[in-house]
Amino acid sequence: MKARTSQQAPEMRQAYVRAWRQYRIRRWCLTCFAMAAVGIALLCHGRTWETVAAVAWALSMLSYVWLLAWRCPRCSRPYFFAGFIHPFARRCMHCGLPKWHLPDTDQRPAQSQGEEPEKR
Ligand SMILES: [Zn+2]
Repeated sequence: MKARTSQQAPEMRQAYVRAWRQYRIRRWCLTCFAMAAVGIALLCHGRTWETVAAVAWALSMLSYVWLLAWRCPRCSRPYFFAGFIHPFARRCMHCGLPKWHLPDTDQRPAQSQGEEPEKR
């Protein structure tokens, strides 16, 4: 049983790393499109640039929805949505998983204090 969990730990850690990378990509898409929309609207003038800014703004709103739909790597439920939207949540709205958490870091404090690591 213990050997099985030690074999699964790297795979689980990789799944978390992939999930956090996906979250980072979604957040960057939102930031880039929103900043492009605001920058174009403020700095450029003319009907064509207004259209470009509107498209960038629409893409930023789609990115926002995409970001909010991101699922927690631990519980697979929407990280930022549980009855209400909390886009700046630092923990999963369902299971409390802290942002940027990796499974190995979960076990280090318990082992360093001489306690039994949590069995799963
Ligand atoms: Zn969760």
